[in-house]
Amino acid sequence: MSDCLFCKIAAGEVPSTKVYEDEYVYAFNDIDPKAPFHVIVIPKKHIGSADEIDSSNSAEIAHVFEAIAKIAKQEKLENGYRVVNNCGEDGGQTVHHIHFHLLARRNLAWPPG
Ligand code: AMP
Ligand code: ZN
Repeated sequence: MSDCLFCKIAAGEVPSTKVYEDEYVYAFNDIDPKAPFHVIVIPKKHIGSADEIDSSNSAEIAHVFEAIAKIAKQEKLENGYRVVNNCGEDGGQTVHHIHFHLLARRNLAWPPG
């Protein structure tokens, strides 16, 4: 999508600090981190939100989770981490390109607020 911030980040048209990239996935540091380690993991293909996942695009999401396991090893997140997806207004989604927050390096409260 031409007017999507995360499509532009994946394409290198908007700068970001890259943490991981492969054919299907791009991961970068969150600009406003909520934990000492806060990376945004996205499929390069535009999917608006978790609500738009179906059989035509679920492989993109599988690639994201394969990448998360690789990033966790690459970044030595041995003490654990949390993966968060915010979907829709009540979910707190502000960027409408599906993304997964990968949070680590502090004890994360449960349940979240
Ligand atoms: P969400 O509220 O789940 O839609 O998350 C969007 C996330 O994207 C927030 O944590 C923002 O801090 C982050 N964000 C927004 N713009 C940028 C940017 N240009 N570079 C990196 N992270 C960003
Ligand atoms: Zn997009």
